[in-house]
Amino acid sequence: MRYRSSNTRFDVIVVGAGLSGLSAARELEAAGFSCQVLEAQDRAGGRVRSTVTKDGHVTEAGAQLLNQDMENLIGLVREAGLELVTTAAGSAAVAIDAAGSVDAAPWLTQWEEEWPRLLALAGVQAGLPDQSLAQLIRQVATDPKGIRIMESSLGEFLCREPSVISAQGLLELYARYPSERSDGELQVSGPLGSVVNRLTAELHTPPRYNAPVNEVAEEGGDLLVRTPQGDYRAQRVILAVTPVAARDIKLPAAVHAKLMRRSTAMMPAPW
Ligand SMILES: Cc1cc2nc3c(=O)[nH]c(=O)nc-3n(C[C@H](O)[C@H](O)[C@H](O)COP(=O)(O)OP(=O)(O)OC[C@H]3O[C@@H](n4cnc5c(N)ncnc54)[C@H](O)[C@@H]3O)c2cc1C
Repeated sequence: MRYRSSNTRFDVIVVGAGLSGLSAARELEAAGFSCQVLEAQDRAGGRVRSTVTKDGHVTEAGAQLLNQDMENLIGLVREAGLELVTTAAGSAAVAIDAAGSVDAAPWLTQWEEEWPRLLALAGVQAGLPDQSLAQLIRQVATDPKGIRIMESSLGEFLCREPSVISAQGLLELYARYPSERSDGELQVSGPLGSVVNRLTAELHTPPRYNAPVNEVAEEGGDLLVRTPQGDYRAQRVILAVTPVAARDIKLPAAVHAKLMRRSTAMMPAPW
């Protein structure tokens, strides 16, 4: 049954129940704002997804590693009663992809060597015509294995095929996170999903699941947030989704133009 919920008016609607959306909602509620999180999937967490076996083994299908510069995330990890431990991605670790499982140590070494070279090359070429990340990768990694490692890692991380990601866009993205530390410095002593569970449980208004937002429209001084479940009214909307997902949401023309300027570098281009 289709139901409509437009009579309830929230101060803020947060689109996306990943770590960003849940943290934003929690801070807003703590500051006294009414807030509703709308999530497209049937679960919270987004790109954090942990499973724990009966005998306590944790598998992370998404984010897993962090470093000392990620202060906000570290705060959330500690609040969830977890500790930081040195990453176990050493000789005992394996990397699994469609081709099977391989010893992760050479994989990680190759990645650590090639990643700074790739960023440096993107920097050198900053004044030149843009190219795709896939083209850039082929200038850094010459063997098929190296190319596959970089393409699959970056494609997974950026939620987009490297062939349609702009090299300059990647550089801009990384300039926003100026950490000199390795991303793989630390990991968490338990499932990262515990952080998601805690954030979700703390919200006064629980997230709505299976509620993909397909449009945000202006109506009578409010914002009308449209989902197949029904419409929601708010004064403000936060899009806590990837640029790729945000582009699928119909927005008021002025907002759309602004968003496109910010995320043009991540758009498919005719390379
Ligand atoms: C395999 C993998 C490994 C990773 N490893 C690491 C790591 O080791 N360390 C690290 O720091 N980072 C890692 N990352 C990145 C990290 O997971 C993300 O940066 C982080 O989880 C992003 O959180 P977020 O809330 O910003 O976005 P997301 O987690 O992407 O959450 C966005 C949410 O919005 C929802 N959504 C999208 N569109 C709509 C819509 N129209 N309506 C409603 N809801 C919508 C999505 O379903 C999702 O739940 C990894 C990512 C992946 C995929």
